[in-house]
Amino acid sequence: MYEKVKKIVKKIVPKGWVRGNTQTLRKIVAAFYTGSSYECGICHFQMSRFILLENGNKLCPKCGSLPRSRRLCSVMQSEVGIQNKAILHFSPPKSLSERIKKAGPLSYISADYSGEFPASEKIDITSIDKSDESFDLIICFHVLEHVLDDEQAMRELHRITKKGGLCLIQTPFKEGNTYEDASIILPEERRIHFGQEDHVRIYSVQDLMKKLIAAGFNVVERIFEANEGNRMGFSNNETILFAYKK
Ligand SMILES: [Zn+2]
Repeated sequence: MYEKVKKIVKKIVPKGWVRGNTQTLRKIVAAFYTGSSYECGICHFQMSRFILLENGNKLCPKCGSLPRSRRLCSVMQSEVGIQNKAILHFSPPKSLSERIKKAGPLSYISADYSGEFPASEKIDITSIDKSDESFDLIICFHVLEHVLDDEQAMRELHRITKKGGLCLIQTPFKEGNTYEDASIILPEERRIHFGQEDHVRIYSVQDLMKKLIAAGFNVVERIFEANEGNRMGFSNNETILFAYKK
């Protein structure tokens, strides 16, 4: 239902207007979901339910966060820590970016390459214009599956991570081996084969871990489950790779 309405709005309203009025539109949508059964861990909106997307993801009606952003926020707050950390965040969703900044990191740089996310800097992940060992924490969620030379990107991530620092990494995953085919370059074909028009592969967890280890990281696979009642709208069986620099 939500996606149908969104498609209709996209057709009849100019794109620029929607961008400029996102906050207002979200407030209108959120009014229909006000309640107390569920809560977004990013914007703290309390609601009767999350918006259920066609792919099964639960969207926050107020800030538009996805389950993976809420899980990441929870992990950062509960065990990784934000304060006193120099953070680099690739392709940051706006609400999560604002939440992290409010938590008082030592420094926070948001990075985007495609122009899709509001970010403070344009950074090519395969050639990062930052000094060695600049960051305590790097967030690289749903980025590497877009990058042709992903091994170079991982070497760059390792280079700019401080000793003892951490990269939090997630991509879409599949069972078996990574699926990759350099001859598939048309957007429509990439969508069919890799799930999205600008994806160039689908990793398996094991293959991505191997590449990160080859780049120099110590890697731990963590799998997160939603707790009972799932008040915060998490996904089940969600993998995050914790890549540590020795
Ligand atoms: Zn929210």
